[in-house]
Amino acid sequence: MHAGTINDGLKKGINSPIYTSTSYGFIDQPETVYPRYLNTPNEKAVAEKIASLEDTESALVFSSGMAAISTVLFTFLGMGDHLVFQKGLYGGTTHFMDRELERFGISYTVAASQSAADIRASIRENTRLVYIETPSNPLLQITDIEAVAQMAKKAGVLTVIDNTFASSVNQQPATMGIDMVVHSATKYMGGHSDILAGAVASGKVLIDRIYQTGLNLGGSLNATTLYLLERSMKTIHLRVERINDNAMELALFLETHPRIRKVNYPGLPGHPQHELAAKQMKGFGGMLSFEVEGQDGISFQKKLRLIKPSMSLGGLETICSSPAHTSHRHLGPEGRKKEGISEDLIRLSTGIEDVEDLKSDLDQALK
Ligand code: PLP
Repeated sequence: MHAGTINDGLKKGINSPIYTSTSYGFIDQPETVYPRYLNTPNEKAVAEKIASLEDTESALVFSSGMAAISTVLFTFLGMGDHLVFQKGLYGGTTHFMDRELERFGISYTVAASQSAADIRASIRENTRLVYIETPSNPLLQITDIEAVAQMAKKAGVLTVIDNTFASSVNQQPATMGIDMVVHSATKYMGGHSDILAGAVASGKVLIDRIYQTGLNLGGSLNATTLYLLERSMKTIHLRVERINDNAMELALFLETHPRIRKVNYPGLPGHPQHELAAKQMKGFGGMLSFEVEGQDGISFQKKLRLIKPSMSLGGLETICSSPAHTSHRHLGPEGRKKEGISEDLIRLSTGIEDVEDLKSDLDQALK
């Protein structure tokens, strides 16, 4: 909560003042300050909070999660390079991979599974990066972070993880050997479904390289949104801990419900990778998915009264979506079948409501 907060020398205010200027003095100054150079006081304040949360030396804040992800990838990859993606990534990352990489002469392989062995099998002589995301979207499969980090180090390849789904409260991949941690700060860091932002956390050496590319690509965040992000981050532990508790209770409730076929939540003892999740996560997060018996995903969601069918995740309100109609629509029925995503799979981003209200809403819609 305190890390990075700007000391208000003028009035000793408890909050960071907002620096709205895009023009800063340069005479007798240690550095040239400019928002696109990612070095205004508010950019630095938020970056320090994120580095503190992720337990890294340094961090940078961007205008969106995709700005952070694309800047990281374009920093370390160029013509002739190759990267390995794990299976089960956020759809926007998959879209970026499909549309952007090859035309810049960057090739990639999607590993056959999330296992370190399958990721290792995809590494070639010209592989520069391994990119993972755990828990995966929307099936909540778990990648062994430490195993991937160790394997990649041996192979001399840098590692990137998208830590958005877990949140930095529940999972700190840099402490397990991952080189760079990216976030859509739009989600749990922003936490109120009202700002778009992104971030990368890492050691100083890698952050400096990302910074050099970042200022050319230009994905910086404006001062007022930075202030909202800093304000939200002060409550991230309270929000995420409540969300963890609610999600666990909902997963247990759904698991025993007669109208539910299957629940995917790493906190459930029956989850195939529960022990691995317990080893690398401090809490199991707010994301879960389940298969409804006897009605299709859209009619089920229309019956919900409190839980809102809507996109994105990580806010205060519990929201749901059906991957077959949203994030994984482009795969078609056959493609989804291959990925193990059923047509009636519902994805839930748990919020901070009274969990009894959430249970009764789900129950009435299921009945
Ligand atoms: N990573 C994950 C896991 C996401 O869910 C998202 C957005 O939905 C992103 C990255 C991209 O973030 P943004 O929409 O802030 O660019």
